[in-house]
Amino acid sequence: MSAIEIPRELIPADGRFGSGPSKVRPEAVQRLARDADDLLGTSHRQPAVKGQVRRVREGLRTFFDLPDDHEVVLGVGGATLFWDAAVFGLIRERSAHAVFGEFSTKFAKSVDEAPHLADPVKFESDFGTFPEVEAVEGVDLYALTHCETSTGVAMPVQRPAGSGDALVAVDATSAAGGLPVDPSQYDAYYFSPQKAFASEGGLWLALLSPAAIERIGELSGSRYQPPILDLQTALDNSRKDQTYNTPSVSTLYLMGEQLDWLNSEGGLGFAVENCAAKANHLYDWASRADFAQPFVKEPGERSNVVVTVDLDARVDANEVASTLRENGILDTEAYRKLGRNQLRFAVFPAVDHDDVVKLTAAIDHVVERLAE
Ligand SMILES: *Cc1c(COP(=O)(O)O)cnc(C)c1O
Repeated sequence: MSAIEIPRELIPADGRFGSGPSKVRPEAVQRLARDADDLLGTSHRQPAVKGQVRRVREGLRTFFDLPDDHEVVLGVGGATLFWDAAVFGLIRERSAHAVFGEFSTKFAKSVDEAPHLADPVKFESDFGTFPEVEAVEGVDLYALTHCETSTGVAMPVQRPAGSGDALVAVDATSAAGGLPVDPSQYDAYYFSPQKAFASEGGLWLALLSPAAIERIGELSGSRYQPPILDLQTALDNSRKDQTYNTPSVSTLYLMGEQLDWLNSEGGLGFAVENCAAKANHLYDWASRADFAQPFVKEPGERSNVVVTVDLDARVDANEVASTLRENGILDTEAYRKLGRNQLRFAVFPAVDHDDVVKLTAAIDHVVERLAE
């Protein structure tokens, strides 16, 4: 196989299209370098670093236009840790899960294996769609996933009809910061910084309603909780603008930068429109191309932050992705375990629209050359 050189004018200025870790804005990295000496390598119990925690907490409150009685809580470990924290600190007895991809499957599995909880209810659907979630007697927490990053499906964040006092917990790891959400429709909306918030991994963040805060208090005193998973401990620390154990300071800083930028551009409304325009470009392109089509058939189920595109059998998606990679266009590979002949692109707010337009032109070029 001879190397394909993509013409320079078709190569995006920034070639990062990964779904997480995702593009970090160079402006933010430059500012971190400028401020690093007063911040990196300094105590997380002192005002400088606590100021970064406060900046992130307040930035999220503004961005999501949170009601005064909601709280922003954070800790070390990423969204994956939050699943296990929920197993101890949010689910009282039985949860029900929308299961429609790798991430939602993992959370349901954590619950399945927890000896102190009843078997979870699972609403499943084929990957590439999302299931309907219905109210079930005895369920005290409904687990939704706003965007299944493994498939590129987005589901609306809505309390299931008839769910009463049960909590709604939403894995918003790739959705938060790019898809619309109404705080009245969830009790816990949790995510990590390395997706739409253009920072690095290692933290989890959660927006909590008063009902979630009350549940955390109720369960914290009533069963054993491993200290690192104890949400009451996380809540107590967050209220003091700190984390239970040592966080990555650069992660906090870069997330603060991204929030300042997003809020200066118009907040969530800006981000939603910005991502939708880029996703529409990709879906239109894939629908028109004679070698590709959107993986998610139902337009209303397609994510505007993570876009998945199936390629026809005569074009090898791995070959396309590796040719793109050789030309500096990175992380367009599909989620591996999905096992499809597919490309996947994130169009989080940090990704420039012009670069998405160049990306599709670059892929057209590669596919043409591979066919020669
Ligand atoms: C990336 C992702 C996770 C895992 O996040 P970590 O920060 O690696 O723990 C969980 N759920 C969804 C939907 C994701 O996209």
